[in-house]
Amino acid sequence: MRLLIMGPPGAGKGTQAVSLAERVGGAHISTGDIFRANVQQQTELGREAQRYMDAGEYVPDEITNAMVRDRLGHDDARESFILDGYPRTLDQVATLDGILDELGSGLDGVVELVVDPEELIQRLLKRAETSGRADDTEAVIRHRQQVYTDETAPLIDVYSQRGLLMQIDGVGDVAEVSARIDDALPA
Ligand code: AMP
Repeated sequence: MRLLIMGPPGAGKGTQAVSLAERVGGAHISTGDIFRANVQQQTELGREAQRYMDAGEYVPDEITNAMVRDRLGHDDARESFILDGYPRTLDQVATLDGILDELGSGLDGVVELVVDPEELIQRLLKRAETSGRADDTEAVIRHRQQVYTDETAPLIDVYSQRGLLMQIDGVGDVAEVSARIDDALPA
């Protein structure tokens, strides 16, 4: 199964994506994780991405798109994948469409985790106490929510119009939310 998982920062996207990938037996592809690994290993990509990430901005599309194009070409992503945190802009949607066309495949569904924005800010502030992530200051947290609203929320309409969108209540414990996703997945 080829799925996207979307939702504002703090909605629990990463956690759900990992367990969903295990359940459907696909590659878990998180652009945020790939960027963070590159930052840690101090690769050229990591050095390029870091200043955007630290400021709560999106990494430029051409960098992100090239990285995803490469990753989706790997064998483990051929039949089944969960894309976590990509696409995030309309340009990335168009690129992903092109990549999947070239690979002769397409998406089976898009999971959107829906959570109240104020609850998310509180979750992220709590996570900031322990994460040590440079993008976890209050100003950056608020900015990331705004960037999501401006740049990524419009993608919800695109996938809704394509009949791919599954809107999932993201409030509750991890198992509860996972069960809701499973109920909504295409057969
Ligand atoms: P995440 O862990 O998914 O919240 O991603 C952390 C950071 O990585 C984001 O705040 C962006 O700076 C960058 N990032 C991750 N995915 C993308 C994407 N699809 N487009 C642009 N930047 C991204």
